[in-house]
Amino acid sequence: MLAKKDLYRFPWSLNDNPIGWVEVSDICNIHCKGCYRSTLGGHKTLDELKKEVLFMKEWRNVDNITLAGGEPLIYPHLFEFIAFIRSQKLKVHILSNGLALTPELITKLKKAKLNSMTIHMDRNQKRADRDGEKTDFDLCALRERYAKMIHKIFPKLILTFGLTIYNQNLDELPEIVRWGIRNMKYVSGFVFIMYRGVPIEEGVEYIDNKGAKVKVDVDSLGYTTDELAEINIETKDVYDRIKQGCARYEPAAYLGGTMTHDSFKWTAGVLIGAGGRVFGALGPKAMEIIQSMHHMFSKSYMVYSKKKSFGRRIFFLGLFDKHVRRAFFRYLVHCLLPWRLFQRMRIFSIGTVQAPDLYPDGRTDMCDACPDITYWDGKLVHSCRLDEWRLFGGYLQAHMLGKRTREEVMASKVEELKAAETAMAGEAEAGAPRD
Ligand code: SF4
Repeated sequence: MLAKKDLYRFPWSLNDNPIGWVEVSDICNIHCKGCYRSTLGGHKTLDELKKEVLFMKEWRNVDNITLAGGEPLIYPHLFEFIAFIRSQKLKVHILSNGLALTPELITKLKKAKLNSMTIHMDRNQKRADRDGEKTDFDLCALRERYAKMIHKIFPKLILTFGLTIYNQNLDELPEIVRWGIRNMKYVSGFVFIMYRGVPIEEGVEYIDNKGAKVKVDVDSLGYTTDELAEINIETKDVYDRIKQGCARYEPAAYLGGTMTHDSFKWTAGVLIGAGGRVFGALGPKAMEIIQSMHHMFSKSYMVYSKKKSFGRRIFFLGLFDKHVRRAFFRYLVHCLLPWRLFQRMRIFSIGTVQAPDLYPDGRTDMCDACPDITYWDGKLVHSCRLDEWRLFGGYLQAHMLGKRTREEVMASKVEELKAAETAMAGEAEAGAPRD
C-alpha cells in the first residue's frame, strides 16, 4: 500500500528544481485528449527561448531543460536551440509524440547529444503511424517499432513512453508494464499521467483575477471536461495496476499536493533488472543518496540520469538501502546459472503524475514544488494552467455554487446514462422482428 512515511519526499522546491520546462512552440502535428495547450502564439523565437533557459538557470537551479510544446520536433530552430542548452552545460530532454521521428532526425539528435526523450502515445490520438492498433496495449507494437528504430541508431538515448490514464485504459496497465519490462533493452521506463481537465459542471463557476465571471467551455479553454468520472483516477489506482504488472515495483519517492495532506501528485520508482526479469526497486534511502550526492557534486537535484545503466554498481546502494539489498540477493540467486552473469543490468523507471484536482470546496490541489512550472511574462506559472494566463491574464478561481457535491453530480450523471441506455435497449427490443 502507498504510504508517505515509507517514501522519500523529493527535496525539490520553486528555486531548486531539476526540471526547466521550456515550451518551444504551441503548434502540434496532432491533438491529444487532455492536452493543456491551445495554439495561440506559434513558434517562439530563438532569442525568447534562450532567455527562458537563462531564467531557469538563474532562478530554478535546473539540471536539465525539458523541451515541451506543442511538438518540439517540428520546431524549425530545434538544433540551434539544443546546441545553446548544451553550451550552458545542461542536459536536454524532449517531450514528443514521436510522429516526426525519422532515421535522419534520430541521427541528428544523436549528434546534438540529446540526453533523453519521452514519447507520448495513447489511444485517443489520431496518429497516421498506427497499423491497426486500437487499444493502449495494442499500441505497444507501435512503441516497439519506435523504440527499435531509435535503439538501432542512438542506443544510448534514454527513452521512456508517456501515457495518459483514463478509465478506458486503466486495466490495460498491467500488460503494458509487462511489455515494458520485457523490452528493457530498448525502453527505459514509463510516465503515467492521470487525465485531468477543468471540470465544467453544474454548480461551478469560474472567476478571473479581476473578479469577473468568465465563460469556461471547450471553445474558451482547451482542457475543460464534463467527463467527471474520468478525472477521478488517482495515483493509488495506477499503483495497484502497476503492481499487478510487476509485483516487485515500489516507488521510492513522491511529491504531495499543495492543498491536501494525503495526495500523491508525483511518484518515482526505479526497477532493477536484467534479462527481462526484475529483482527489486530502489528504496527511499537509495533515492535520498542519489539526490543528495547529485546536489553535492553537481549543485542541482536530478530527474534524468546521464546513463541508461549503471551495471552492477547499482548494488552498492544496498549498503544503505534494504530494498536494493533484497534485489541484490535475488540477483545472486538468478546468477546460479552462470551464463546469466553476462546479462546486462538495467534500470527501468516508472513515474506517475496526478495533475491538479478541484475539490468540492473550491480548493485546487496542485503538485507541491511543481517540477513542470514554466516561464511566462517574467514569472513562473504552472505549465498545466498556462493557458489561463494566456487567455484570462491569470489563474481562474473556482466558485462552488450548488449544494450538491461533485460525487452527487457524478452519481446523477451515471443515473442519467443508465436511464438513456435502458431506454435505448427498450427501443431496440420494441423494433426487433418477432418470431
Ligand atoms: S502542477 Fe506542475 S507538475 Fe503538476 S501537472 Fe501541473 S504543471 Fe505538471
